[in-house]
Amino acid sequence: MDHFALVDGELHCEAVPLSRIAAEVGTPVYVYSANALRTQARRFRDGLKGAGRVHLAYAIKANPNIAVLNVLAREGYGADVVSGGEMARALAAGMPAADIVFSGVGKTRAELSRGIGAEIGQFNIELEEEGVVLAQLAAAQGKTARAVLRVNPDVDAGTHAKISTGKSENKFGVPIAEAADIFGRLAGLNGLNLRGVAIHIGSQLLDLGPLEAAYSRIGAFVSELRARGHTITHVDLGGGLGVNYKAGDVPPDPADFGAMVARVTKDWDVTLMFEPGRVITGNAGVLLTEVIWVKPGVTSPYVIVDAAMNDLARPALYDAWHDFEAVRPSGECMVANIAGPVCETGDTFARDREIDVVKSGDLAIFRTAGAYGATMASTYNSRPLVPEVLVDGDRYAVVADRIAAETILAAERVPDWL
Ligand SMILES: *Cc1c(COP(=O)(O)O)cnc(C)c1O
Repeated sequence: MDHFALVDGELHCEAVPLSRIAAEVGTPVYVYSANALRTQARRFRDGLKGAGRVHLAYAIKANPNIAVLNVLAREGYGADVVSGGEMARALAAGMPAADIVFSGVGKTRAELSRGIGAEIGQFNIELEEEGVVLAQLAAAQGKTARAVLRVNPDVDAGTHAKISTGKSENKFGVPIAEAADIFGRLAGLNGLNLRGVAIHIGSQLLDLGPLEAAYSRIGAFVSELRARGHTITHVDLGGGLGVNYKAGDVPPDPADFGAMVARVTKDWDVTLMFEPGRVITGNAGVLLTEVIWVKPGVTSPYVIVDAAMNDLARPALYDAWHDFEAVRPSGECMVANIAGPVCETGDTFARDREIDVVKSGDLAIFRTAGAYGATMASTYNSRPLVPEVLVDGDRYAVVADRIAAETILAAERVPDWL
């Protein structure tokens, strides 16, 4: 079911009219549906029913709001974190340290030490030297860090170049050809419990083929490690499942993904770990905005909205598509460009797109903004930091405040020697 649907001609999130949120909180504002989050979390888990022992670590970079994390923690999800800040969020949201996976190609020594101190569940090692340092830091604290080695399987995920992570030229993981020797050198280190391997080949994957190819390579690699005498108990298969941004996108169904996983991994005898991000939160959120002007253009008019690239960066970053819909559609359509107020031509959400007719003062949404939306927001052009709202049935709460430009200004100063 769609948790953002028309009721009596007006878009609601669950039972709450979006116009009420706009009136009470202002725009632009992100609106998340708690029940959409729960539904997706359960669909993903249910899809993996046939896949044996499974650990789910939600990739919190997709949407790290602590209310969102709280909903997912109650669904039994741990977290995949990529910075000390994300680790702090996962712990603040009540996720048990043991359920946290620490990924990321540039974990600092300070971040590793904090993770060791908090006794987080697993470190995903990105290079040999990191493994050596992790072992030393853990031993110095009298601890043993559980870890897996991230392998770069050299598979083309068939996604946007900026979110492809599993090709040999990408910065992530160790080359699969060298991985067994690196594993062998790290496995015996004091302070390290190297228990398996990890991969993550990219994001917004709309085809299971590349995932299956990567998983098969990892399966063969696990056999090779075992043949060399290593004990492998965990394999982290990463995230990456895509979502539908526009009509015609057909992302893999979590049930089909799970069936593929069960088939490819049936003889592995390990705990499988997953790091889903976008597939859990992408369609659980919208960006609610108000039309400021409809300005004549050379070909199509410009619909200038009060949301901009600093609030939702994906179109400017990846040429991404977000459906745009009026909150009170009249049924009439127009062809328009949609742009924000930021002084960059890149601050354009859509070009020559057929949309609902809107005029100055109307409310509208960008759909599928629950992942890689608010978390990428900035205050560029000295715009406020965009707030976030969580809806659950007929209730809603502001779960992140709008941070005023004045608050940001208050953190700046002119040195007295100037
Ligand atoms: C970004 C990332 C994920 C999540 O990717 P999605 O496409 O949002 O599922 C998972 N694991 C790692 C290591 C990541 O960097």
